[in-house]
Amino acid sequence: MNISASTIVITGGAQGLGRAMAEHFAAAGAKLALIDMNAETLAEACELCTAKGAMQAQGYVVNVTDEAAVEQVFEQIVADFGELNVLINNAGILRDGMLVKCKDGEITHKMPLQQFQSVLDVNLTGSFLCGREAAAHMAKAGNGGVIINISSVARSGNIGQTNYAATKAGVVAMTVTWARELGRFGIRCGAIAPGFIETPMTAQMKPEAIERALSMVPLRRWGQPDEIAHSARYIIENDFFSGRVIEIDGGVRL
Ligand code: NAD
Repeated sequence: MNISASTIVITGGAQGLGRAMAEHFAAAGAKLALIDMNAETLAEACELCTAKGAMQAQGYVVNVTDEAAVEQVFEQIVADFGELNVLINNAGILRDGMLVKCKDGEITHKMPLQQFQSVLDVNLTGSFLCGREAAAHMAKAGNGGVIINISSVARSGNIGQTNYAATKAGVVAMTVTWARELGRFGIRCGAIAPGFIETPMTAQMKPEAIERALSMVPLRRWGQPDEIAHSARYIIENDFFSGRVIEIDGGVRL
């Protein structure tokens, strides 16, 4: 698929990886529909996309966990842009914590259900809702399409990330399922599993966690958001790519 003149929807498009992908595709002449909860950063991202050369850039303030709002926003995007070619399910949150803590034979902590559920709601249910709406519009239009889910190296399990790791494995399972189910409509699905990338999300990490993380990366550096945008571009442009995960992690899983 050509990026130029395609309508690309990016959730969590206001900052971090979402914004970097939006800027990258704007420079290639795409039309961008950015979904985010943060109205202020969303407006900035849209302005930036227009300045970079987007044919059209519009922001939609929506919480991806809200089913009715997600249904409505996809209707609105199709009305505003006339079509929908690509969805990037990128909105995601971290709420790290240990499953249990035990001291001197006493349980001092259990991960609250809300801490687990809140991450599932955004990372997994949000991706499901947006993927479902995008697939419905793409199948109806009959021109194929591309859906990209953002996973993580954490999908294979990571200390302190019961909730996050479960969602990032879950989006890979959805990617494979959708690639199998939606291929008949010419819709391709792929996933990207980033390692540690320099964004506001990773800026929340404690200095000792950053040091520990970097020591595990053979390339001994953070990834840059544009290195993820580059992979999203590859998935969009390669018409025979579907159902697989691209790992962009500096070799951290080796
Ligand atoms: P970020 O926190 O910098 O940006 C996330 C964006 O998503 C924000 O603009 C936020 O407002 C938006 N968002 C959060 N909850 C939302 C909701 N319910 N509805 C709509 N928008 C919502 O994060 P990032 O580092 O850019 O990460 C983007 C994606 O990449 C996430 O799915 C994350 O899990 C994944 N990822 C990031 C890294 C990394 O190192 N940064 C590594 C692996 C995977």
